[in-house]
Amino acid sequence: MVDVLQSVLDPTARAALRETLGERARFDEPLGPYASWKIGGPADAIADIETTQELADVLGLTHKRKIPWFVLGSGSNLLIGDGGIRGIVLRLAGEFAFIKVEEEEGMVVVRAGASASMALLTTQAASHGAVGVDSLAGIPGSVGGVLRMNAGTDREIGEFVREAWVQTPSKPQPHAVTPQYFYRHTTLAHDAVVARVVLAFERGDPHAVRAQMQRRLVRRKETQPLQFPNAGSCFRNPPGDKAGRLIEEIGAKGRRIGGAEVSPLHANFIVNRGGATASDVASLLAEVRREVAERFGVELELEVHFVGVFT
Ligand SMILES: Cc1cc2nc3c(=O)[nH]c(=O)nc-3n(C[C@H](O)[C@H](O)[C@H](O)COP(=O)(O)OP(=O)(O)OC[C@H]3O[C@@H](n4cnc5c(N)ncnc54)[C@H](O)[C@@H]3O)c2cc1C
Repeated sequence: MVDVLQSVLDPTARAALRETLGERARFDEPLGPYASWKIGGPADAIADIETTQELADVLGLTHKRKIPWFVLGSGSNLLIGDGGIRGIVLRLAGEFAFIKVEEEEGMVVVRAGASASMALLTTQAASHGAVGVDSLAGIPGSVGGVLRMNAGTDREIGEFVREAWVQTPSKPQPHAVTPQYFYRHTTLAHDAVVARVVLAFERGDPHAVRAQMQRRLVRRKETQPLQFPNAGSCFRNPPGDKAGRLIEEIGAKGRRIGGAEVSPLHANFIVNRGGATASDVASLLAEVRREVAERFGVELELEVHFVGVFT
């Protein structure tokens, strides 16, 4: 039997990564610190990538040597397995972190790199009066992760995208794509790494936009268990209903497996009460999903992405 916990990176692949990134290539490090749930086993390699050319080089390496890879954003929508991730985990930084906001022809136009923080982007865009940006406020992701997920609330990021630029292993230089956006997913190619985006918002009154954003942030603090590590809503809302309502109805609030707990405040959040493993969370999710299906005949779909090896 193949040992799924064994590194797939041989010494020559490790050396090649070191040659490209120097100390920004790290090996066999736990991923928990990089995920909002604070859960996750080790990656064979973590590659901190700071330029377009480095991204092209590392994607080229994965392509040539058939090395599996995964692009990590802020880790706020991920359950990373206790066995970690085989291959290279890419993290964007450096030139991918820029945010530039300009007013152009009655619009607020935001140019941002994939690793830019949505919190910073929404704050800056709101101060220019970007109408609708409040719907994206309080999402603790990176621009790339938010685009991949088409994250949002009543309005989603896809509605505001003017351009999206990606790099892929077979076409490693940045190029524009036009994916379609759906509820919490997009048609972005699975091997596309978002490099940067251009968003456009109608321009309104900055005071009104900032006030609306502030109301949303206060509401989040009241309704979400932000004091414990979590990954936001675990399940997508089924058509015409709320996953949280169904989970509350089966009486699961406060239920625990190991260190994982269905939040007593918001039933669609699972919180890490300390020392939770990916198996604790996965078991709790499976239990809740089964009971909701038995009681209501509704098959809840996961919103959080499972990645890596589950032991
Ligand atoms: C407290 C809390 C509140 C939240 N509220 C909301 C909310 O209101 N609405 C909502 O939609 N979500 C919400 N989320 C979930 C999460 O923040 C979003 O899904 C967000 O889009 C994830 O971004 P990320 O950078 O953390 O991506 P990650 O979790 O790191 O990754 C998510 C997926 O995106 C991919 N990805 C990341 N970066 C890139 C890139 N550069 N190119 C291509 N793919 C990439 C990853 O491979 C992975 O498949 C919340 C989460 C938390 C913890």
